[in-house]
Amino acid sequence: MTPIAEARSAAGLESTDCPNCGAAERATLFEIEDYLYGVEGRFAVQRCGNCGLVYLSPRPTRAAIGRYYPPSYSPYRPAIQDERSAAMRWMRRRKLVKRRQAVERHAPRRPGDLLDVGCSTGIFMDEMRSAGWRVTGVEMVREAAEYAHARFGLPVVEGDLLEVGLAPQSFDAITLFDVLEHTFEPAAVLHRAEELLRPGGIVALTLPNWESLDRRLFGKYWVGFDAPRHLSVFPRGVLVGMLEQAGLRVVDNRCLFGGYFTFITSLRTWLRARCPAAARRLEPLIDYPGVRLPFEPFFMLMDRIGAGGIRFIVARKPDSRAAHDQRSAS
Ligand SMILES: [Zn+2]
Repeated sequence: MTPIAEARSAAGLESTDCPNCGAAERATLFEIEDYLYGVEGRFAVQRCGNCGLVYLSPRPTRAAIGRYYPPSYSPYRPAIQDERSAAMRWMRRRKLVKRRQAVERHAPRRPGDLLDVGCSTGIFMDEMRSAGWRVTGVEMVREAAEYAHARFGLPVVEGDLLEVGLAPQSFDAITLFDVLEHTFEPAAVLHRAEELLRPGGIVALTLPNWESLDRRLFGKYWVGFDAPRHLSVFPRGVLVGMLEQAGLRVVDNRCLFGGYFTFITSLRTWLRARCPAAARRLEPLIDYPGVRLPFEPFFMLMDRIGAGGIRFIVARKPDSRAAHDQRSAS
């Protein structure tokens, strides 16, 4: 180990080559910190010179990453019915239904068998089960997995998708909502998903949209970088290539629901860093629920032109007949 590598390892950091293609050549885009929760550490965002993946290096080691997920980390959401504000219940419900419908639109049969990877507190699994699906969840964070089990009685396997024991070809749909950007080995995760799918089955993902207006406006304060929890950000072409490498063919690729929350989270971070005085005056206004309404058409337009904050992508495993035809044709 070099002295720099040794010092980093003591701080719970490691350097990495591209987590997709393994190439060492890269351009450093900028240095970055944990702007959302303020956990100490300095990281750098790199762009791979070979495949174009955007990734963090140095980044936390697997042993140290847990400290960057405080209990207040927002994806550990309680049940929608426990939400105090009616507006919030309505918005969360709407997003959930959109996700379910998008999965059902592409699934080879419905209801079928669903695996929700990074299922967190089980909100989406519960929705799918209500629609008749047989559901299984995988979740690394014990408290979230326990909540899903205790609150909804859901079957959640605690652990890493790459390590848990699940039978190959046993699911019709696998969802990875806001998950891939957190993984240390995103290409291996996609391969594993393909292995677990039945022929004709689909994988559905949501991820920060590299092509978003938000990234262009807010730069390193864009919530899509969310260092150091997001270890990679996937430009559209890179992601499509990775799915193809895993044997999956993209069938849907768009912005599915308004990125209002991601936009204001980035805006708040940017304001705090750039003009703290204005941030203090504007923040109560930004957080006022009614402010969203007049801006709704703007976010719908951004989604329509593919510049919304969140990308939704569905890819299919070829069914056995198509795979057979392809083999005989080549
Ligand atoms: Zn690469």
